[in-house]
Amino acid sequence: MPSRPCWAEIDAQAFENNYRYLRSLAAGDAELLAVVKSDAYGHSLALCAPAAVRAGARWLGVTSVEEGMAARALCPDVRVLAMCGCFTGEGALVVEHGLTPVVWEPWHLDELESAVWAAGMDSLPVHLEIDTGMSRQGVGLDAMEPLLARLNAGGPLRLEGVLTHLFAPDETDGRATEAQMAQLDAALEQIGAAGLAGSAGRAEWLSVGASATLLNGDTGRIAALARHWGMKAMLRPGLALYGLAPQFEPDEPAAVAAARALLRLRHFPAPLK
Ligand SMILES: *Cc1c(COP(=O)(O)O)cnc(C)c1O
Repeated sequence: MPSRPCWAEIDAQAFENNYRYLRSLAAGDAELLAVVKSDAYGHSLALCAPAAVRAGARWLGVTSVEEGMAARALCPDVRVLAMCGCFTGEGALVVEHGLTPVVWEPWHLDELESAVWAAGMDSLPVHLEIDTGMSRQGVGLDAMEPLLARLNAGGPLRLEGVLTHLFAPDETDGRATEAQMAQLDAALEQIGAAGLAGSAGRAEWLSVGASATLLNGDTGRIAALARHWGMKAMLRPGLALYGLAPQFEPDEPAAVAAARALLRLRHFPAPLK
C-alpha cells in the first residue's frame, strides 16, 4: 500500500469528451489519431485506449513496438501507429500484431521487407517521417530520394502516410512552424514528383500537428495541403486528450484560452482522509 496521501482518479468519460471536443476543432474531415504513448501519458493505456476507440478514434499512436502490442491486445480493430519506428529484430512483431510502423531509415525498410516476406504477406503499409526541423527522427529532404525509390520499386512496403512533427506549435509568432511547413511543402513536392502522393494505392494520409495545433485552430492549412496532394489530413493529439493545454509563449491566443476552459480537467485537491 502506498503511504503517501496521493491518488489520481482517471475519468475515462472526460477522456472521451476531450477526444470528441478536439474532433470538433479539426478542419474538414481530418482524422484524429489518439496518442496513447507512455502508458497514455501515465493515465493507463488499458483505460485510455478503449476510451479513445469508444469516442470514435480509428488510429492510436504509441512510441514503440512493445507499446503497440499492448495497444493491439486492448483494441483489436483499430490501426496502431508505432511512431518511433522499429528496431532490428522487431519486424516480425510489427507484422504479427498488425502494427503500422513509421519509417525513415533504409534499414527500417530492410527489416520490414524481410518480415513481410517471411510471413508470406503481400504488403505492409508504412508511414514515412520527414524531419522538417525537429531533428529527433525522420528523413531529411536531402536523403529522401533513395527511400522514395525503394518505396516505388514494387516491393512489399506501401507508403500509406507522410508524417512530420512540429516542434514549436505553441510559439505564438509561428515562425518555426512556418519554416517547418515550408520544408514539408518541399518534401511533398518530391513525394508527388515520385508519383507517391494521393490517388489510389499511394500515400493517403498527411499526418501533421498535435494538441497545440488543434487548440489554436490551426488545422485549416494542413487540411488544405493534404487536399492539394489528394491526401487526407491526420492530426495526432496527446496532451489535450488528458485535459491539458500546452502553454503558449509569449502570449496565449484567445482560441487556446477558450479551448483550455472546455477541456474536461478535473482536480482532486482534497487530501486523503
Ligand atoms: C507525443 C507526440 C504527439 C502528441 O503531442 P501532444 O503535444 O502531446 O499533443 C504527436 N506526435 C508525435 C510524433 C508525438 O511523439
